[in-house]
Amino acid sequence: MEKPIVTDGDAVLRDKAQPVSEKEFGTDELQALLTDLSDTLRVAPNGVAIAAPQIGVSKQIFVVRGFIMAERMRHDPESDSITDVAFINPKIVRASRKKERFDEGCLSVPGVYGTIVRSHQVTVQAQDVTGTSFEVNAAGLLAEIFQHEIDHLEGVLFIDNAEEAYKTENHET
Ligand code: ZN
Repeated sequence: MEKPIVTDGDAVLRDKAQPVSEKEFGTDELQALLTDLSDTLRVAPNGVAIAAPQIGVSKQIFVVRGFIMAERMRHDPESDSITDVAFINPKIVRASRKKERFDEGCLSVPGVYGTIVRSHQVTVQAQDVTGTSFEVNAAGLLAEIFQHEIDHLEGVLFIDNAEEAYKTENHET
């Protein structure tokens, strides 16, 4: 079910999110939360990923749109049918020393964009809904998304580290 997106100023965005416990894996409640995240993300214009605190749930979970994981474009006719991917208890296990400058926005800081320096490449380890561990290695946009979402789980917003942030009326994310 689609949920309202929490915006900057709400305390939940500044809390360190709680790990998902062993007994929560495989439950209907966890699956329902992943569905809520996906439903909320899919109606957000320009949304590519969302972290649980952004719908007011302080748990270590984020969801990335399937078409991003599959490196497809949003307007690709098949994009909507690609399943979104949930990362539970995610950790960055490797990060490149090579950095890259990204233009970033956030669903929880509407109308604001900024330039931020992040690792060009990261490897994220996480668990799926059943508790099974997996690893994803990513560079560029997907690496940026992983770092942005894991920051959310630490209570960090991109505007905290942006070199420059500017407001624009053009796009809402
Ligand atoms: Zn964000």
